[in-house]
Amino acid sequence: MGIAVSPQIHPQVADFIDKPRKMLINGAWVNSISGKTFPTYNPATGEVLAQVAEGDREDIEQAVKAARKAFDQGPWRRLTASERGRMIWKLADLLEEHIEEFAYLESLDNGKPLTIARAADVPLAVDLFRYMAGWATKIEGNTIPISVPYTPGAKYLAYTLREPVGVAGQIIPWNFPLLMAAWKLGPALASGCTVVLKPAEQTPLSALRLGELITEAGFPEGVVNIVPGYGETAGAALAAHPNVDKIAFTGSTEVGRLIVHAAAGNLKKVSLELGGKSPNVVFKDADLDSAIPGAASAIFFNHGQCCCAGSRLYIEKPIFDRVVEGIADHAKKIKVGSGLDPETSMGPLVSEEQLSRVCGYLEAGFSEGATAVTGGHKKGDKGYFVEPTVLVNTREDMKVVQEEIFGPVVAAMPFDDPEGILPRANDSDYGLAAAVWTRDISKAHRMAEHLHAGTVWINCYNIFDAALPFGGYKQSGWGREMGHDALNLYTQTKAICTKIA
Ligand code: NAP
Ligand code: MG
Repeated sequence: MGIAVSPQIHPQVADFIDKPRKMLINGAWVNSISGKTFPTYNPATGEVLAQVAEGDREDIEQAVKAARKAFDQGPWRRLTASERGRMIWKLADLLEEHIEEFAYLESLDNGKPLTIARAADVPLAVDLFRYMAGWATKIEGNTIPISVPYTPGAKYLAYTLREPVGVAGQIIPWNFPLLMAAWKLGPALASGCTVVLKPAEQTPLSALRLGELITEAGFPEGVVNIVPGYGETAGAALAAHPNVDKIAFTGSTEVGRLIVHAAAGNLKKVSLELGGKSPNVVFKDADLDSAIPGAASAIFFNHGQCCCAGSRLYIEKPIFDRVVEGIADHAKKIKVGSGLDPETSMGPLVSEEQLSRVCGYLEAGFSEGATAVTGGHKKGDKGYFVEPTVLVNTREDMKVVQEEIFGPVVAAMPFDDPEGILPRANDSDYGLAAAVWTRDISKAHRMAEHLHAGTVWINCYNIFDAALPFGGYKQSGWGREMGHDALNLYTQTKAICTKIA
């Protein structure tokens, strides 16, 4: 197909995007049944990057059939836990061998800086697979002493097994395309489930390339099926499918609700990782040399397209001007440009739709009286760039403070009373993450205890690890990804009781 940035492009990536990409069903790369394809765009230019097979209900049907067969009858369930773990480890090794290629692919499809994809997205995905590979042999039940009152004198051996839930449908977003695929696939495979994965329409490429490595790593046919397509069609069919035992979703709270409704038909298990409007609280006793860059990166990392972005910034009044000025200085120094440019520290937003969403929020903020210390507008006329923005003069009832913007826009708000900040910080329907910056460890841990959020960072932000559970309180989700908590999403407990005397 050829794209404008081709001189810089990684040769394997150029080959990969040159052909229309097929979907992975039952171990084979196939076209969609309808024959339709859809384009994925390069958000730095707005040009078509590649054509991708457009999965729909019928393709989901085939993929679920394959996953069902692989779970019920395939060799997958007969593998030992060690063999399963080694396969996942091999996938991690293969991914690590291709870090550069995946970083390019991710940067092209999503827009994020190549430097970030290379340092964070791909290594985190490798690490996640290694971490989950280790769990395959450690998913254990218990032996349980029971004392049944109505069978006096009888003795029982009672124990639990933790078994895979079965066929898992997984629907992922575009902000960390490869990493979200890893967060979903890793625990599902470690637990022994089979999978139908639907990547986001904006960024299907890295999941499809990962599918090739999954095949190379030796996973039996049908264990992982990857069906790119639109949410309203392929995604909805997967969420509603009666032969899918569990659906895992990451994305907007609005679609999360649709998933819950769709899952009601067969009451499949549901896990959700949804949006956020995370409070980031800077106290006057904080080390500002770390709090200022920390608060800047809390909102500007990944162009603010993070479910846990620190978008509500509460700053104690005596240091308000200094912190706002410091963050605005950071924002002004951010080099916004194509992700492939090594100088770039912030790429474009993922899509035109996302750009207009973010610009719509900025306009709403300005019309309600917010002002921008820096930024506030779309940038350039090619690609989906927006200026890193620091808003002040905001009130809690404004849309820009209430709703998830999912762009590089922070609302900075002063506070007087260090005791009164907690209810303000908690005043949100969301509860994904929060952060506190202070030198007072007692205050930090008091805050951490009372903040209604699945993750609380103290004197840091955006620290992720495969071993650390991540997920939401309130309307930010159900269940936890990563860590050993993630295995609970893909296993179910069976109690077995034997009368031995
Ligand atoms: P979204 O619609 O929630 O998309 C997430 C995933 O769900 C995509 O794969 C999407 O498919 C799929 N989907 C959409 N409608 C569906 C349906 N009815 N049934 C099943 N699956 C469906 O998110 P978005 O529209 O891309 O972004 C909108 C907002 O969501 C963002 O501005 C942000 O606030 C939030 N968001 C949150 C996260 C997060 O990490 N929590 C990530 C991304 C976005 P398509 O590919 O067709 O969209
Ligand atoms: Mg794209």
